[in-house]
Amino acid sequence: MATNNIVILGAGVSGLTTAYLLSQDPSNSITVVAKHMPGDYDIEYCSPWAGANYLPTGQPGSNHAKWEEQTWRPLKELTEKHPEAGIHFQDTIIYNRKKDQESATGQWFSALVDENPWYKDVVLDFTRLPKDQLTPGIDNAQRFKSVCINTAVYLPWLVGQCRKNGTVFKRAVFKHVTEAAKAHHSGQAADVVVNCTGLSSKNLGGVHDDKLHPGRGQIILVRNDPGRMASISGTDDGEDELFYMMTRAVGGGTILGGCYQKHQWDPLPDPNLAIRIMKRAISMFPELVGEGQGIEGLDIIRHGVGLRPLREGGPRIEAEKIDGVTVVHNYGHGGFGYQASYGCAAEAVRLVKETLQNKIRAKL
Ligand SMILES: Cc1cc2nc3c(=O)[nH]c(=O)nc-3n(C[C@H](O)[C@H](O)[C@H](O)COP(=O)(O)OP(=O)(O)OC[C@H]3O[C@@H](n4cnc5c(N)ncnc54)[C@H](O)[C@@H]3O)c2cc1C
Repeated sequence: MATNNIVILGAGVSGLTTAYLLSQDPSNSITVVAKHMPGDYDIEYCSPWAGANYLPTGQPGSNHAKWEEQTWRPLKELTEKHPEAGIHFQDTIIYNRKKDQESATGQWFSALVDENPWYKDVVLDFTRLPKDQLTPGIDNAQRFKSVCINTAVYLPWLVGQCRKNGTVFKRAVFKHVTEAAKAHHSGQAADVVVNCTGLSSKNLGGVHDDKLHPGRGQIILVRNDPGRMASISGTDDGEDELFYMMTRAVGGGTILGGCYQKHQWDPLPDPNLAIRIMKRAISMFPELVGEGQGIEGLDIIRHGVGLRPLREGGPRIEAEKIDGVTVVHNYGHGGFGYQASYGCAAEAVRLVKETLQNKIRAKL
C-alpha cells in the first residue's frame, strides 16, 4: 500500500524520469503537477525542443560525466527492448576544429571532441577517423553508434509508464515551490516535493536560483533524412554557432541546429540564423538535398527555439527544507537533460528516500 505522498513539480524529461523511477516502488503515491505537459510547445518548456541524442559533454571525473555514464545503459535498453519509447540507434560523426577551443560552442563540446574521450568504452563501436581522411580544417574526428530520441514520442511514453504505476497528472502553476505540497491528489500534504522546473527555478518563489541562465538553441525540423548524426565544434559564422544534425526515431524528422547563445531569452526563431543553419547543413552534407540543390531542397516541418537550463556549477540535485516543506531539487541540466536523465533522476530518488526515512525516524 502507498504510504509516501510525493509531488513532482514539472513534467519535462527531468520530472517525468524522476516520477517514472519513483513510481516503480508501490509504497510511493505520486502526483505530477505542471504548467506544461507533453504535447505542449512553449518557450518555458525546454524538453520538447531537444534533438535529442546522447553525445556526452561532461568533463572526465565530474558528476555530469558520471550521470551521463549512468544514463547510457537505460537508454540502450529502452532502444533494444521498447520500440514504443521512440528511441533508435544511429551512427554519429563528431568533428573537431582546434580553433574553436575558446568559443562558447568549443567549450561546451570540449569533452565530446577529445581524441581520447572517457565515453569511448560506453557508446558502441567507437573509432577515430584516420587523419588522411579528414577534410581541410578538421583536426580530429570520431565515429560511434549512439541513440536519438523522438521527444514527441518519448515524453508521452514516460507519462504512460507512470500512469500504469498509478501516478496522477494535474495542471497547475505555482508562484512558490511550497504551494506544490498542497497539490497531492489525496488531499493530504505531500511528504516531499521534487522540484523539476528547469530554467523556471530562476524565478520560482522559495528557490530564486541566480546561477541559472538560458542557453538559447534554435533548430529547424525537416523531412530530409541523411541517415546519420553529425556534429562539429564550431563554425566561422559566430562563436556561439555550430552545426549538428540528427534524425529522430519513428518518422520524427531530422533536427538541424544550432547555436548555444548564453543569456539570450528571445523565443522567436531568427530568420537569418535559420538560413545560416540550413546553408551549413548543405555545405557539410550535400546529400541532404537533391543534386545541385540549395536550401530550397530542404522540406521544412517547423522552426523552433528552446532555452537550455544552464546552471553555473552544474545541475542542482539536493534536498532542503523550505518553510517547513521538504524539497528535493533536480534542475539545471543545460544541454544534457536527456543524456543524463537517468543518472540525475536516480540521485534525486536517493535523496527522496533519505528524506522519507528521516521523517519516519523523527516520528518514532
Ligand atoms: C535546441 C535544444 C537541443 C537539445 N538537445 C539535447 C540533446 O540532444 N540531448 C540532451 O540530453 N539534451 C538536449 N537538450 C537539453 C534538454 O532539452 C534540457 O536539458 C531538458 O529538456 C531540461 O528538462 P527539464 O525537465 O529540466 O525542464 P523543462 O523541460 O523546461 O520542464 C520544466 C517543467 O516545469 C514546469 N514548470 C516550471 N515552472 C512551473 C511553475 N511555476 N508551476 C508549475 N509548473 C512549472 C514546466 O511547465 C515544465 O513541465 C536540448 C535543448 C535544446 C533547447
